[in-house]
Amino acid sequence: MKGQGHFIKVKRSYLNSFFLIFIGAVLLLLNYRDLESNPSIDNVINHLKSLELIAKDYGGSRSVVDGHSASVDYVLSNLAHMNATFNITTQLVTCNVQVDEMPPLIELYSMKKILYTFQPKFQVMTATGSGSSITMKSHLVFIDGCDFKTKLKNFIAIIDPTNRNGCSVCDKLRVAIQHGAGGVIVLSRLGNMLGYPHPLQPRARICGKKYLEFMKLVGVVTLSDDASYQLLKLYSIKTKLRVSFKIVSAFREYQSKNIIAESWNGNKEKVVLFGSHLDSVRTGPGINDDGSGAMATLELANYFHLNLASRTKQKIRFAWWTAEEIGLLGSSHYVDELKLNNPRELKRIKLNIDTDMVTLCLIRLHLQTMCVEYGMVNILKMNPLAGKQNQFTM
Ligand SMILES: [Zn+2]
Repeated sequence: MKGQGHFIKVKRSYLNSFFLIFIGAVLLLLNYRDLESNPSIDNVINHLKSLELIAKDYGGSRSVVDGHSASVDYVLSNLAHMNATFNITTQLVTCNVQVDEMPPLIELYSMKKILYTFQPKFQVMTATGSGSSITMKSHLVFIDGCDFKTKLKNFIAIIDPTNRNGCSVCDKLRVAIQHGAGGVIVLSRLGNMLGYPHPLQPRARICGKKYLEFMKLVGVVTLSDDASYQLLKLYSIKTKLRVSFKIVSAFREYQSKNIIAESWNGNKEKVVLFGSHLDSVRTGPGINDDGSGAMATLELANYFHLNLASRTKQKIRFAWWTAEEIGLLGSSHYVDELKLNNPRELKRIKLNIDTDMVTLCLIRLHLQTMCVEYGMVNILKMNPLAGKQNQFTM
């Protein structure tokens, strides 16, 4: 899932809840009810601390272009002692990633004086295919609907984030760019306009492919809540407000890796897959999203190695996917490769359990649990349809 996470937000109680349910599911799945030991929450917390140190070494991120490769090394080093239990492999994934060619900059001016610098409270909308823009001291124009027409040239558009009168955020983007916007600033949530600034990081927005041809024409950014608030406040009181807007980005190719650890034991015709993504967004360390799921998976692999390996009925496959945050590239590559080169193997996967942000909220946990239980019923009955129903749908 897209978003940011930080270690201090990880709730131990949620981890505990998650583990009780997750391990219960695993034990039922494997038909073992006589185990005495439990997976260690402390191990998961320690893994998360290590991920946070990795992020610090790479400018605060574990994305594919930052600390993901170090995260891969970390998981592999922790799996190494389990090689009697697992066949541990990596799969190369080529990722086309949009990166900044130079540090992005947005500054507000009035009468030659800088009033506000947005760095680092904005995010270039790389997930949707933002282009590049360099404009100096342009006019700002607020856009809150699709019936927008302007005679200004090379202005920077401020986009209201709410959907009104059937005009979505993405439609406002399209209209602004069609009418000459040299760049677009998308505000954060409605709360800002009511005057409730929050120090949240900007959130990526996704527009469909039909908007791509417009969005790649200019730089498009989203603002954090407090930056949105400051912009709207200054926009409402300063008549000669201008903006300098410099977003220069390009696509670069990066080599990244999926990690797969599959039990040597177990029926190879009945594979159970536990997956999670190991990369973060560029604007955060991804400790909750999805360090929590990835490190829970690592501890589960360790638990399996210590307690269950010799008694496995199904083949158990643990996976740490790459490049989820830039379009599910790692897991998609894995499935595409199997479809192309080994479709029989794809059919052997009877259940896929994906964990993403396992510390987040009880509603999500509840839904996930229902999914696990549904899958369990099928796999315990060895329903031949179970695989079709559960493959990569959770
Ligand atoms: Zn995620």
